[in-house]
Amino acid sequence: MIVGILKEIKSEENRVCMTPAGVEVMRQNGHTMLVEKNAGAGSGFDDDAYIAAGAEMVATPKEIFERADMVMHVKEPLPAEYDLIREGQIVFTYLHLAADERQTHALIKSKCVGIAYETIQKADGSLPLLTPMSEVAGRMAIQQGAKYLEMEHGGLGVLLGGVTGVDPATVVVIGGGEVGANAAKMACGLGAKVYILDLNLDRLRYLSDIMPKNCFPLMSSPALLRDLLTRADVVVGAVLIPGAKAPKLITREMLATMKKGAVLVDVAIDQGGCFETSRPTTHGDPIYTVDGVIHYCVANMPGAVAKTSTMALTNATLPYALQIAGKGWKQAMLDSAEIKAGANVVHGKVTYKGVSDAFGLEY
Ligand code: NAD
Repeated sequence: MIVGILKEIKSEENRVCMTPAGVEVMRQNGHTMLVEKNAGAGSGFDDDAYIAAGAEMVATPKEIFERADMVMHVKEPLPAEYDLIREGQIVFTYLHLAADERQTHALIKSKCVGIAYETIQKADGSLPLLTPMSEVAGRMAIQQGAKYLEMEHGGLGVLLGGVTGVDPATVVVIGGGEVGANAAKMACGLGAKVYILDLNLDRLRYLSDIMPKNCFPLMSSPALLRDLLTRADVVVGAVLIPGAKAPKLITREMLATMKKGAVLVDVAIDQGGCFETSRPTTHGDPIYTVDGVIHYCVANMPGAVAKTSTMALTNATLPYALQIAGKGWKQAMLDSAEIKAGANVVHGKVTYKGVSDAFGLEY
């Protein structure tokens, strides 16, 4: 198959959908790899590395859309690309169609085969192409929390791990899933005192088993949150209710009880955020302050560590890209329920219930 690796055009997106190492494996499996010039520049992979991996460098996205049987991206296609997508072409990327009616109609019109990273699903319900980005965002949440605790940024002036004879910081992580567990692990490693809250008792049992001694997995409740907030130096919002907006767990009144200079990192901002005072920010202007409490609410955190994120994404997507390119999309979906779950739009029809429900379209 001819596979096209497109350069990202969304603002502040530095990732690329495949590393040179991934391209080499695709080549070894007999695929022709077209890579758009400078596609890897934002992630630290230059064109020479792709050429050495066996790629053919292509000057424009137009040429990639014209020649490739399957095009890959990180982010969804943008309006400038809609008319370039060909009938029957496989578009394999994060699509997030349920939140984007215009793109949904564009993909229907194109009659392409749109396979969304975010809906590929394993039998146990896990979403293997979302997990790596949750790992990145969770770990990064603590780096950001630590940074904005510094005086220079208006923070409390507290070191997460403390030092000999001085108390460590208190970190509260709300939601003990992928993001939360990674945030807690990172904060524990730095020596903070970490509370991780969830509503799922089985998950709390699991966290109790695997987390170090300075981590306290607790059953979440409004009363516990009210108590912990008065002591917290960093709070990480990491809850997810699948298919729904994040619940507002910290209200404006609760915020007023927090220490001035404490830091809230709302990782769940891409689902609306779990603090009442959260609003999306960007890497260029990541924080703002409400009632003396610093808010960090960047919706695409992994973009800031593009090299790590690109490598993590390729590790996760490559096995699926190999199957789709090796067998063709039809056979790949017959053989793999995971890939079938990724089908969102096929030959002009919506094939994912969440998307048809969102816009009242035929399914
Ligand atoms: P997950 O499903 O693995 O974990 C969510 C956890 O929240 C679950 O364990 C669930 O039991 C728990 N939960 C639900 N309601 C709760 C409540 N009221 N109190 C306490 N816990 C509750 O999800 P995840 O992969 O960890 O993702 C978490 C959020 O982070 C999602 O909104 C995701 O979209 C977002 N995310 C954002 C970025 C970013 O760049 N900002 C990157 C990756 C993920």
